[in-house]
Amino acid sequence: MEQLIARFLRYVRFETQSNPANAHCPSTDGQRVLAQQLKEEMIALGLSDVTLDDNGYLMARLPSNVEYNVPAIGFIAHMDTAPDASGKDVNPQIVENYQGGDIALGTGEEVLSPIQYPDLNRLHGHNIITTDGTTLLGADNKAGIAEIITAMAVLKAHPEIKHGDICIGFTPDEEIGRGADKFDVEKFGAQWAYTIDGGPVGELEFENFHASSAFVTCHGVNVHPGTAKDKMINAMNIAAQFQLMMPMEETPECTEGYEGFFHLVSMEPSVAKTKLHYILRDFDADSLARRKALIQENVEALNQRLAKGHVSVEIVDSYANMREMVEPHPHIIELAKQAMVDCDVEPEIKPIRGGTDGARLSFMGLPCPNIFTGGYNFHGIHEFITVEGMQQAVNVIVKLAENTAKHYAK
Ligand SMILES: [Zn+2]
Repeated sequence: MEQLIARFLRYVRFETQSNPANAHCPSTDGQRVLAQQLKEEMIALGLSDVTLDDNGYLMARLPSNVEYNVPAIGFIAHMDTAPDASGKDVNPQIVENYQGGDIALGTGEEVLSPIQYPDLNRLHGHNIITTDGTTLLGADNKAGIAEIITAMAVLKAHPEIKHGDICIGFTPDEEIGRGADKFDVEKFGAQWAYTIDGGPVGELEFENFHASSAFVTCHGVNVHPGTAKDKMINAMNIAAQFQLMMPMEETPECTEGYEGFFHLVSMEPSVAKTKLHYILRDFDADSLARRKALIQENVEALNQRLAKGHVSVEIVDSYANMREMVEPHPHIIELAKQAMVDCDVEPEIKPIRGGTDGARLSFMGLPCPNIFTGGYNFHGIHEFITVEGMQQAVNVIVKLAENTAKHYAK
């Protein structure tokens, strides 16, 4: 337990925020620095085949300690932190034996309040690691890294726990959607894997959105406003009309659970040309296809209506629901569920209202559900994690390794 927390506190001090504006892989040097440190730590731990490639992907293996054939399983976490909040000079604070009420972050200008975050009400008596209110914590996903490495240390120290080959992968640039881009599935060598990148204890996810983007461009004409009569076509007015044609009740702020949405993410406005970027999300492939069709129909309808100017659209697919890749192998989910139950953790299966590296990896031939880290409020200054939750994640990883070997015994 002490080692687990020491590892976590050590890793969060590395600044590893990824940068979507940098096309390199990894997108920031800090990630490589952490990768190098993790590489040395895994070698010191006695793991095999520890490699750090040019793109900053770190892989390792804990060899099987049984005589019979067990499929190799993998555990994956990402090294970067989200661009949404600073990850520099992270200065965690530990609240021991939390008894309710507000937690002052740092100087107390910011607080972590159970009124805003009712999850805290279920955590009385727990030891909570928070930020100092100036940065994110980086539990997403350094908790996952600390939990995986600690679980490997436990397996190393307890050869009586039987397991097959365990493959470890730490990836760069997950938060900017590139974590799976250069992941070498064949080299990794696992039959299936789990990302340890979820939230509260018990989370188990193998469904995520089907995702597309629609780039709508409204074409106008700009001339000097003093001589614009009958000449100017203001693309921003066209964009406003287009947005008003979209279903206002099918947006992120109006939907939850298995409901999909259209989301206007950003606009680039100007008189001559205005660009609208929508993301389209749905758990069901047919429903996503209907959303794409609706955008096309609206473009055509608006073009018919406009006396001047016109609209064009480009639709691009982003990622797909991993469910179809995971469901044909029910044992992947069953083993995870059973490991949780064996560790007194109640599995809570939820759809991910987003994407994960695991989804991309699933379509690259490595089915890859997501398991909890024990953290909350990722990507902002109110991020926190419990020591107890982290320990349970370690227990589940160890148990999964053990149960997989048992499952294939004889
Ligand atoms: Zn994450």
